[in-house]
Amino acid sequence: MKKVLISSCLLGVNVKYNGGNNSILENKFIQILQKQNCIISICPEVDGGLSVPRIQVELVGNKAINKEGIDKTKEFKYGAKLALDKALSEGVKMAIMKSKSPSCGKDFIYDGSFTKILINKEGLSVALLRKYGIKIFSEEELEDAYNYWKKL
Ligand code: SF4
Repeated sequence: MKKVLISSCLLGVNVKYNGGNNSILENKFIQILQKQNCIISICPEVDGGLSVPRIQVELVGNKAINKEGIDKTKEFKYGAKLALDKALSEGVKMAIMKSKSPSCGKDFIYDGSFTKILINKEGLSVALLRKYGIKIFSEEELEDAYNYWKKL
């Protein structure tokens, strides 16, 4: 079984900071993964102890700070560790993670100013997963993800 770690909000689960989701369930590859029972759903922020809804968080340097200036790094790091633990225990080799998130973002995330400015940086969970050799795709790279998965 070629399991794939996927951000829960992409699977239609309402775990976003504002209580919504970013569903990509209509995508054929995601449907194949569902049918074959290959999906491992994670939301590092909620798994790490944050609520839904929650105050928006961005990375400032290596810290996760919410819009009210409160440090949530501990929860972010714990959620990242849980995601990694799940991935390793299930033998996961790849993940599909929500772009621009301070946890799940792959190439670009917001710069910490809460002004919608993107910088070339990855989220905390993605950084940890990548460190352990897990190949990361965003929801904008599903075709590449499918091709990679087929060859696993
Ligand atoms: Fe989605 Fe990841 Fe944010 Fe959870 S932490 S809401 S899975 S982007």
